[in-house]
Amino acid sequence: MAWWRSPGVALVAGAVSWTAAEYGLHRFAMHELRGRGLASREHLSHHADVTYFSPTSKKLASAVGTTVVAFPLAASLAGRRWATAFTAGMIGTYFAYEVAHRRTHTHPPRNRYGRWARRSHLHHHFGAPMRNFGVTSPVWDKMLGTYDDPGVVTVPARMAPVWMLDELGRVRPELAGDYVVKGSRSSDGGQRPADRTDAFANAAPEA
Ligand SMILES: [Zn+2]
Ligand SMILES: [Zn+2]
Repeated sequence: MAWWRSPGVALVAGAVSWTAAEYGLHRFAMHELRGRGLASREHLSHHADVTYFSPTSKKLASAVGTTVVAFPLAASLAGRRWATAFTAGMIGTYFAYEVAHRRTHTHPPRNRYGRWARRSHLHHHFGAPMRNFGVTSPVWDKMLGTYDDPGVVTVPARMAPVWMLDELGRVRPELAGDYVVKGSRSSDGGQRPADRTDAFANAAPEA
């Protein structure tokens, strides 16, 4: 049996394929389309309001839809066993991405990787929406020239994740080297009409 025929290789190939899909879908199907099509509209709505995440039902439907098309193709090319392991690797990594992405917005970092993931993704949101498309890894951004070192990320106060701030709305001391918060959190939740226009034009929100 050729070495690449083993299920372990198929599993890893599936996982790597997801990271490429994560980059490609995020860049081309979501940002480049500027709101044309459901995926782009849903994603740019998340940029306009960072507390908005597409409902799980829509995500499940698209994961099932993709599998139904891709699985028979992979099975005809490499056999059922290989295709099953490949699909498991891809779907497993996709779910890990969903959890990781949501956590960057809802939970503070717990380690170096979590710290990088938050700075990089929040730079994508608030600094440069056409950079740092990879959420779980910088590999494809680095390969394709869209990676920025996040540096100190400037965050509009109305969009700052709760984990970033203390009771007085200041950046927590342990995160002060990573983030600067600008503007004020207004009492109505702070969405501005321009946030939607900016998000759909791939422009960073005004601080
Ligand atoms: Zn996000
Ligand atoms: Zn995005």
